[in-house]
Amino acid sequence: MTKTKIPPTIQELLNEFIRYNFYKIEYKRLAGALEKNVDTIIQRVKRNNKYFDIDDSQRPAKISVKKGVPEVYFYRDKNTCQICQKKAIPNELVLRFRNPSQRDKFGWSIVLSVCNECKDKPIVKIKKIIKSPPRIEYKEIHIMWESELDDETVEWNSFLKFNELDGSGYFPLLDSNENIASKTIADVLNYFAADDWEVIHIEVPNDAEYIDHYQVFFKRIRDKKEVNRN
Ligand SMILES: [Zn+2]
Repeated sequence: MTKTKIPPTIQELLNEFIRYNFYKIEYKRLAGALEKNVDTIIQRVKRNNKYFDIDDSQRPAKISVKKGVPEVYFYRDKNTCQICQKKAIPNELVLRFRNPSQRDKFGWSIVLSVCNECKDKPIVKIKKIIKSPPRIEYKEIHIMWESELDDETVEWNSFLKFNELDGSGYFPLLDSNENIASKTIADVLNYFAADDWEVIHIEVPNDAEYIDHYQVFFKRIRDKKEVNRN
C-alpha cells in the first residue's frame, strides 16, 4: 500500500479518479464503482472539500479532485519519483511543474512527483546549454480509435488517430500513398520511437466509456551534440 496521509475512505475515491484520468465523475458512478450507496458518497465528498470540487452546474452534479494538493499527486504516482523512478516516502518528494508559467500549472498531466535529487534536473526544452548533462524531454499524446465506412467495400474500418496536444487535433498516421497507417497501437508508438521517443507510461482507462482512449507519456534524451546544433 502507498504510504500517505490521505484517509483510506478518500483513497478509495481517489483510486476511481486515477483510473479515469481525473475526469469528472458523477456520484452515482462513484457509488456504483465502490458498491456503496449514493448518500454515503455524497457525504464523504462534501465532508472532504479539501480534496474534492463539486460542479453543481451540471445535472447530475459532477465531482472532480481538487488540483494543487501535493499529497494527491504523490499518491497518484505511488510515491515514486517520475524522473528516476526511485521509490520514496511522501516527505522526500516535491512537485515538479512541467510548465510553471501555464495558468493551470497544477493540471494532472503536467505535474510530476519527483525526489530531491531530480527536482532540478532539466525536463523542459532548453535553448542554450553550454556545460550540461544530456537533455531530457517529455511528451504526452492521446490516442483514440476511430471507424470509417469504406465506400467500396461498405465495411467499417477501424484505425487509430492521435493528438500531440499541440492544438492541431487528432490525426491518423498516413503512409506515402496517403493511406491510413495507424491500425494498431504499435504503429503509433513506432512512429514516435523513430524520433527517439521512449514510452514511460501508458494509461488505459478500464471503463467502458473511455476504453477507446489511451494516454501515452514519452521521454527523449538528447545528447550534447544535438543540443549544440540547435
Ligand atoms: Zn528522482
